[in-house]
Order: sequence, then C-alpha cells, then structure tokens
Amino acid sequence: MQTVTDSFHAAAGKASFIRKMFEKGLELKQQFGEDAVCDFSLGNPDVPPPESAREVLHRIADEAVRPLGLGYCPNAGIPACREAIADYLSRQQGMRLSGNDAIITVGAASALVCFFRATLDPGDEVIVPSPYFVEYGNYCGHFGGVLKAVPTKEDFSLDIPAIAAAITPKTRAILVNSPNNPTGAIYSREELLALIALVEETNAGRGDSERPLFIVADEPYRVFAYDGAEVPAILPMSKFVVLAGSFSKTLSMAGERIGYLAVNPALTVADGGALLSTLTLVNRTLGYVNAPVIGQRLAAAICCETVDLEIYKRRHDLMAKVLSEAGIEFTMPRGAFYFFPKAPGGDDVKFVDALLKEKILAVPGSGFGRAGYIRLSSAVDEKIIARAAEGFKRAADVCR
Ligand code: PLP
Repeated sequence: MQTVTDSFHAAAGKASFIRKMFEKGLELKQQFGEDAVCDFSLGNPDVPPPESAREVLHRIADEAVRPLGLGYCPNAGIPACREAIADYLSRQQGMRLSGNDAIITVGAASALVCFFRATLDPGDEVIVPSPYFVEYGNYCGHFGGVLKAVPTKEDFSLDIPAIAAAITPKTRAILVNSPNNPTGAIYSREELLALIALVEETNAGRGDSERPLFIVADEPYRVFAYDGAEVPAILPMSKFVVLAGSFSKTLSMAGERIGYLAVNPALTVADGGALLSTLTLVNRTLGYVNAPVIGQRLAAAICCETVDLEIYKRRHDLMAKVLSEAGIEFTMPRGAFYFFPKAPGGDDVKFVDALLKEKILAVPGSGFGRAGYIRLSSAVDEKIIARAAEGFKRAADVCR
C-alpha cells in the first residue's frame, strides 16, 4: 500500500501546473490567435444553460428590485431554495429529504471547505483516492487538515484494502468524487458499499465518539454519465455520508456559485443536529456570509433540469476516437468530462511540452497526484477536438 501525504504547500505546487498551462495558453493565443490553440486544460462548461433560465431571470429581476430583494438571506440559504434542492436531491438519492437537511453553499468548493472547517482539527487526516482534484489539498489544508492520497487501482476503481490500511485514529473523512475529475471514473455500488462497511466498522471501533469518520461525496459531475452508466445514490447508504454538489456544471452556472451540502437525516437524529448547525454557522463565518441570492433563486427554479447532455456525449465520443487514432492509451471514462490517458513514453511533463509545440494545452497527471498520465478536458467544442487530431499523433510519435 502506498499513500502520499499532501501539505498545503505541495498542493499549491500542483495547482501551479494548471496555472502554468493557463498562462501558456494566454501567451499562445496572443501570439497565434484564439483559433490556432486547442485548449483542453480547463473544465469550464461552455454549453449554454437551459433556455428556461432566460424567463426565470426576468422574473427574478422583478423580485430583486423589491426591498431586500438583493439583501442578506438566512445563513443556510433562502428557505424556498433549500426546499427545491431538497426535493431535487430526494428524487436523485431515493430518500426523503426536507429543506432542513440541506444548506446552500458557494459552489461545491465551499461546500467542502465548510465541511472541513466544521469537522477538522489541525493534524486531522482526510483520505482521498488518487489521482484527485488538486484543490482538495488546499480545501482541507486551510484548517491544518492533511490530505492523504491513496492510489486507485490501474482502472481508477477504489482500492478498498489500501484505503483501510491508510485509516488512523486521526482520519476524519474519506473524500470520494464520482464521476471523477480527472479520471472520469464512476464508482460502482459494490465499491461504495465496501467503503461504507469500512467506515461503519471504523466508527463502531471508535465507540460513541463525537468525532466519527465521515464519507464526504463530492458530486458536481453527477449528471455526466455515458452509455447507461449508473451513478449510485450514496447518501442513503449510511448516516456518516455527507453529500456535496453544485450546479456549476449541470446547469453551466459556475460563475453564479451555487452548491449545497446535504446531511443524512439519520445523522441529525443521532447527533441532535450538531453537524448541521455547525455547518450553518461556518457557512456564514467563512467570510462569504451567504450564497448569491440571484443564483439561489435561479437554481431553485431550474435545479431539476440540465444543460444539453448530448453535446457532452458527442464530445466524449470524439475525444475517444481522436486519442485512439493517435495510439494514445486510456481507460474509457464513464462520466464527467475529462480523459486521463497515459503519456506515450511515460513522461507526462515531456508529453505536455510536445503537445504545447502543437499548440495543444493539457495538464500533466503529476498535478493530480499521478505522474505518467495527462488530463484533457472534453468540455471543448467538437471542432477544436477534431482540429487537434494530427497534433496529438505527432506529439505522441515524438515521445514514444
Ligand atoms: N470538485 C471537483 C471535483 C471539481 O472538479 C470542481 C470544479 O471544477 C469543484 C469541486 C468545484 O466546483 P464548484 O464550481 O461547484 O465550486
């Protein structure tokens, strides 16, 4: 079993890989023009929000100019928005949730930051299957938490014995992200049930501790699942599951910053609402006070809709074809909008540099805790994916 412990500084170093690509991209675009560069470095959803958003935004504009229309709102979110999101999650998770079981956060990012602020003491550990979304190190590092990366198996599925071996008395949470950024993996029901069994067993060993081990499920990509893949509902599996998510990707409203945290009602019965009330307080005092009110009203009205997922499916299939034709090896992602192929020749930084010479932007896997791979976002127009085909072939040939 191999684990990698991530300090705040190490996480900042990894984040700089993405920053470096971003800056390189700007440079290339300035030099050769926007159209000459094929940028697969960022997961910034460009598909328009559902058309219904237009009419809702007009209505919200009328509400907004009333007294307090743009004023502070309750820390946990506008009650009608909490109810709407609880209904949406009830259907998605197959269990009855009320508005009191969910709080509205500033995206999934601050849902996680909020959870870590509420639960971690300095030195506490958070286990994450790797490769993983690089900002996790910062999210828990803000409060002295330590991210402990446990490599997944070769096909990016969970290595349950390795996770079991990484648990210590300081382990406070296991952070699972499915569909996954950067690999596109979706964890199966069996994998999740095995993880739950591990957590339940650990908590039984901790007795009636006020510091149980949690699973925090980060699901901003939940609706992006291809070819009939099922994303199992994790919240009903145990009272120790806390669910985080957002509408950044599903409704293309990343800039409006609406996310949520939902707690299993059985936990609220068991802890007398302690976790929920701490999360609510933290949601206010982290400095952003409440999630944007226009975004909350918009999400409340359209949270059950999605962007046009067919567009993502076509991009996903095209990216798979382009990589296969370039002879680049990859595990077919079943969800999200990323590919995590092997770097031909084995050196991810060298391959990313060779791609740069072709004006193709990608991020080295080292930035996600797995050297030897690269990450490509497929949230990119089909024309750009097609245009990059020859460049992928040439760069792969140079590196082999
Ligand atoms: N979690 C993962 C795995 C992500 O990829 C992202 C953003 O890309 C986030 C969380 C944060 O998303 P949000 O915009 O909802 O804060």
